[in-house]
Amino acid sequence: MADTANFIWQIVEEDKANGSAVKTRFPPEPNGYLHIGHAKSMYVNFGTAARYGGTCNLFFDDTNPSKEKTEFVDAIRADIAWLGYQWDKEVYASDFFDIIYDYAERLIMSGKAFVCDYSAEEIKATRGTLTEPGQESPYRNRTAEENLRLFREMKAGKYADGEKCLRAKIDMSSPNINLRDPVIYRILRATHHRTGDKWCIYPMYDYAHPICDYLQGVTHSLCTLEFEDHRPLYDWVGVTLGFAPKPRQIEFARLSMTNLVMSKRYLKKLVADGSVHGWDDPRMPTLAGLRNRGIPAAAINDFCERAGVAKANSECEISYFEAVVRDYLNAHAPRAMAVVDPLKVVITNYEGEEEIDFSINQTDENAGTRKVKFGRELYIERSDFALEAPPKYYRLKPDGYVRLKNAYIIHCDEAVTDEKGEVVEVRCSYVPDSHSGADTSGIKAKGVIHWVNARTCADAVLKQYDHLLRDADYAGQDFSERMNTESEHVFHAKAEPYLAEAPDGEAFQLLRTGYYKKCTENGMLCLSEIVSLKDNFNKGGK
Ligand code: ATP
Ligand code: MG
Repeated sequence: MADTANFIWQIVEEDKANGSAVKTRFPPEPNGYLHIGHAKSMYVNFGTAARYGGTCNLFFDDTNPSKEKTEFVDAIRADIAWLGYQWDKEVYASDFFDIIYDYAERLIMSGKAFVCDYSAEEIKATRGTLTEPGQESPYRNRTAEENLRLFREMKAGKYADGEKCLRAKIDMSSPNINLRDPVIYRILRATHHRTGDKWCIYPMYDYAHPICDYLQGVTHSLCTLEFEDHRPLYDWVGVTLGFAPKPRQIEFARLSMTNLVMSKRYLKKLVADGSVHGWDDPRMPTLAGLRNRGIPAAAINDFCERAGVAKANSECEISYFEAVVRDYLNAHAPRAMAVVDPLKVVITNYEGEEEIDFSINQTDENAGTRKVKFGRELYIERSDFALEAPPKYYRLKPDGYVRLKNAYIIHCDEAVTDEKGEVVEVRCSYVPDSHSGADTSGIKAKGVIHWVNARTCADAVLKQYDHLLRDADYAGQDFSERMNTESEHVFHAKAEPYLAEAPDGEAFQLLRTGYYKKCTENGMLCLSEIVSLKDNFNKGGK
């Protein structure tokens, strides 16, 4: 964890001087899968607790039954565990529904809440604007006894959905619209994923959240900036209900990134309309998607730390995230060779086979080497051969020399073409005393290309991805207009047997190609791009 204290840690430190142990909560709503923005929230919530020797609860904010599902609860748990965070207690807003209800009766009895017969539209129409105060509801001055009777009738199911609601009685002329008698309970007949049909009234988030924080002993309720305007209401609930010690809400900037959208609503739409293969599609910014992409959890946590915690919203370049992932994989991923769009090379003066030392990861002294079989028939990438080479082309061309990575220099003697003029095979001769590390040939080969052994290699499907969205400055601002419909590219490749034998899920650096995850699809070796080798998306290539 970074030593420099961000603004949240400075506040927590001051508060801690007053003696309280730090308690935080990570509060997802189980209405979708977590995304990389949530990783940021976890970094802040779990990270702050850990830094000060406190604990963090996993708090499911399940006050909105129509959208919440147990499937999402399970997925959220798995994602948090994957990032390596350990929660203290697993708590649900619905655990507290009875207490939250009792607090509402208490507000009614003290004249701080009233039952309102206005519809949602009428409430909206009388709420006023930023420059004009709202109008008081004609139901505002009901007696406490009448309010209590009506509220109990609401709970008992006497009224239809939306026919009545409970509102806090605060101030219709407050400059903060959230304090203009906000709705704190609504009537909603929906089966809740945990409480079933027990309730037909549900508390609103702004009212329930401060209560749930308090009941969990949360000291610092860390949330994103859009809740800043809600803090006066958060504080009103705490003060009015006499919470001591009252949790303190602190807001920080949301993580947003170029070329991707994090709103669950939109991600849900992509899944529903088949734009992606599912919540865990490798192009999705969900944690399930990033995991499936092969991005290590450590790289995500590292990114959250490096991106920092800010008080003002800003947009992070996705290339920055990719650079962090690349840094991590550069240090950790074993190297291997695979060729995309293979072209056969026959070394006519070579007999037999030999084992060549191949460095597993040259950035890691302890990684060591492994053996790769060199032989008479190889594959190289079609793009590494040019029949008519442009100037300064240092790869393989007729009558040219090139070095095969970790092996010999070869000379191109002849390109065999088919009836359409397409090159189907390249015949070469190797230079026997040019072996890498022991080259006494005196021949200069400027280019180095990678290869695989044709006898031992495995067929593979290689997948590359573009960003799901074009950049934000793309003319169409609506997400659907920015959608890149051609974001998955599939190629045929030949891979070292080492890759075929590797466990599924492992990440490799494919030399000169990029970082790829090994997996198996329909019984076939599949190499799925994690991140390109270089930042080529800013150069217009991707
Ligand atoms: P979305 O808009 O994607 O649906 P949300 O805020 O509704 O996100 P929640 O499940 O309510 O999703 O979020 C749980 C916690 O994660 C909240 O405290 C929320 O502020 C935080 N969070 C959500 N998105 C981000 C983000 N992009 N950056 C930082 N924190 C986030
Ligand atoms: Mg939310």
